[in-house]
Amino acid sequence: MGKRVNPMGVKSALTYEVSEAAVALGVSKATIRNWVRDGLPIMATKKPYLISGAEIRAYLRSKSKAAKKPLNHDELTCFRCGAGRKPFAMSVECFPNTIKTSRLAGACEQCGGAASRIISNSRLDEFAATFHFKTGAGSEP
Ligand SMILES: [Zn+2]
Repeated sequence: MGKRVNPMGVKSALTYEVSEAAVALGVSKATIRNWVRDGLPIMATKKPYLISGAEIRAYLRSKSKAAKKPLNHDELTCFRCGAGRKPFAMSVECFPNTIKTSRLAGACEQCGGAASRIISNSRLDEFAATFHFKTGAGSEP
């Protein structure tokens, strides 16, 4: 159980480095990194990572909403909609998350925003039957 974080701690018009976001929200840098691993979108792949305040707010809101409503089997959590959504074309990418879990990431069918969910590796086969897993990186157009 994480403590509740007030999304209003960040300003939606600003961008934050991990350490700045941690200070603004009163959480540890590790917490922010966990959120990124959990699907909070970052703005660059190079360090220092920048995170938009608007995305942090959307992420925190969706987290508190998502906690109340379990996802259907064929849904990911869309951080912009703040709800369970099917991924576009039922297509997801699968990333290693922890030793026991993986993260499925796709684009929200409704808003095109980043949607993801963490699944147990023991259920990978089950989810592979539900979603179309995109095969490895490097096959981009
Ligand atoms: Zn959406």
